[in-house]
Amino acid sequence: MLNDCLRIGLAENATSLKFLSLKAYRQLSGYDVMSYYKLCAISRAVGILRNYRKAKRRGHHVAEPYARRPQLVTCYGFKIIDGKLQVPFKPRRPISIPLNKHTLDVLSKPNQTIRSITLTTSMMGIAYSKETTSTEPVGLVGIDNNLDNVTLVDSKGNVERYSLQKAMWIKSKYREIKSHFTRNDVRIRRRISRKYGEKQRDRISHLHHDVSKHIVEDAKAKRFGIVMEKLTGLRRLYRKGNGQGRFYRDRLNSWSFRELQRQIEYKAHWEGVPVLYVPARNTSRKCSICGLSMKPEENRTLKCPTHGIVDRDVNAARNILTRGLRFRPVALPVEAMVTASMPHGMGIRRVDGSEIS
Ligand SMILES: [Zn+2]
Repeated sequence: MLNDCLRIGLAENATSLKFLSLKAYRQLSGYDVMSYYKLCAISRAVGILRNYRKAKRRGHHVAEPYARRPQLVTCYGFKIIDGKLQVPFKPRRPISIPLNKHTLDVLSKPNQTIRSITLTTSMMGIAYSKETTSTEPVGLVGIDNNLDNVTLVDSKGNVERYSLQKAMWIKSKYREIKSHFTRNDVRIRRRISRKYGEKQRDRISHLHHDVSKHIVEDAKAKRFGIVMEKLTGLRRLYRKGNGQGRFYRDRLNSWSFRELQRQIEYKAHWEGVPVLYVPARNTSRKCSICGLSMKPEENRTLKCPTHGIVDRDVNAARNILTRGLRFRPVALPVEAMVTASMPHGMGIRRVDGSEIS
């Protein structure tokens, strides 16, 4: 059904759910399945087509979308009865899937709704949402995301740092392992490479979850909002042919800054902690007190002509925090009052999409 929808969508140049429903729904009448699944197939096709067009617009080489793995998604018609998930199958004849205690515990928390069920040949995914009330923050915490650490400065002046050295170490280790593959068969090399890639991702993702969890828990306990840099186009900066060495490129491209941001963002949303993004420009170069350009010194420090030597990451986190405070003024600390001005109208958006004037 999904592939039918994709084919129709491509032929009809459909981009909206409404349009594709009109074009495709009747053509799916040959399938002996409940209409829930037809609607979900259409909606999924719209999502895939949208991503496909977006990638194409950006000039990426993308193959026409075609789903190979069987997958069943439904957003309707399911319920949990006696610890079993009832998934619609035939009218009044649902498929019953027993859930384990952990899943039932997680799903029975208040203010939560199950949104969709995904079944594949090997797993079941349950997507659920939670009603959160975001409280007005009493302060903000600026987060500077680096290759080997995450540095936080909050509006009370506290500095905190989480090391990502271990993640760096894991990456370099796997890089080394992969560089020693000598089998002269590209398929085998790729397969092994993928295997190690997955292992590496699992280990690093565990580290990131630990860090992001702590950061969000801390912010929630202190009733602080989170400010991060809007980092985009970084991958494009470190591409082949940009004049950087292979090793350098590899190191920076494996920097999972976005992944950590993503984790912090969704965990913060889940806990009702507001998240704010500010432009990344010059946060690592200008003095967070006077706004003057600083000279790089030894050991990741910078020197301001007036304010002397400061830690590079702490300074960057302070700059991020200060920019956040400009858009969401809360209990301004002394330093934030005297920063250099920043041009307005840079099109900064809150995470929820509303424009900040
Ligand atoms: Zn200064």
